[in-house]
Amino acid sequence: MTARMLDGRALAGRLERSLQQEVETFAAMFGRRPRLVVVLVGDMAASASYVKSKSLAAARVGIDSDVVPVAATASTADLVALVKALASEKHGPADGILVQLPLPPHVDTVAVLDAVPPDRDVDGFHPENAGLLSQGRPRFIPCTAAGVQRMLIDAEIPTAGKHVVIVGRSDIVGKPLALLLASRPPVGCPPDGTGGCDASVTICHSRSGDLGHLTRQADILVAAVGRPGLITADMVRKGAAVIDVGINRVEGKLVGDVDYGPVSEVAGWISPVPGGVGPMTVAMLMSNTLLAAEIRRRP
Ligand code: NAD
Repeated sequence: MTARMLDGRALAGRLERSLQQEVETFAAMFGRRPRLVVVLVGDMAASASYVKSKSLAAARVGIDSDVVPVAATASTADLVALVKALASEKHGPADGILVQLPLPPHVDTVAVLDAVPPDRDVDGFHPENAGLLSQGRPRFIPCTAAGVQRMLIDAEIPTAGKHVVIVGRSDIVGKPLALLLASRPPVGCPPDGTGGCDASVTICHSRSGDLGHLTRQADILVAAVGRPGLITADMVRKGAAVIDVGINRVEGKLVGDVDYGPVSEVAGWISPVPGGVGPMTVAMLMSNTLLAAEIRRRP
């Protein structure tokens, strides 16, 4: 079997074109564009490159965006004060405020993220947004989790009654994705089980023991660890959908967590790295920024 490729880049392009029209409607109604402000701390090349992709996507869909560079020596208090100042609009309207992770080790990341007002938290990391998601009434869904769900929906891969195994339990990817895929169907969800919900979900992590025993049970397998080659062909059930969230740099090249060539001979669907989940994450950030602008305009 040769797996069908889940082309995240193409899907993200389609989503961006439709968002572009919604942004134009917003701008015509309110006389301004949604605005995203990104705080970039330090000079890590990977962070700078992610921030650049976000700025370029914002320009493509017509969202105003600004990057606020901060020295790596900034303290937790400095960063909390900066986020609060951005939210107070001293620097102009900021519909979405995003602090690029990771922060330097001396900074209390949770304290900084908690300073982002929940109605501008376009990353969906604030406890209020995490709580809303866990109660099945999401507002800002973490972008990578939302992007993976959208890929499954777009490819019409059934989730209802299926077994999803997620490797990785982070607050950014694994946990919110588990909540999303196990959630009850929203109003208007297609009746054929392809709504990206109603799944039975297993979350695996670094202490999961026999990982292959668990991953082989998956109809849909998601790898979100950050270890190249972790998922090998013998860990995948024939015909399963394999979604690779991992981003690793190996000898100057980007690779995921999945051993792509051999796994694509076993899987039914597979997402590549690069060109899979990464562009979807950025597209969902644009969607969240437009939503933040709309929420701020509601009476
Ligand atoms: P994290 O470090 O917060 O979490 C990694 C998880 O993997 C942990 O829950 C840990 O328990 C688990 N783990 C570690 N070793 C394991 C093992 N041997 N077996 C099973 N589980 C193991 O990472 P994160 O922020 O969730 O990111 C995970 C990966 O996804 C990274 O490569 C990151 O760069 C990538 N990522 C990609 C995107 C994207 O847009 N494509 C977005 C976010 C993160």
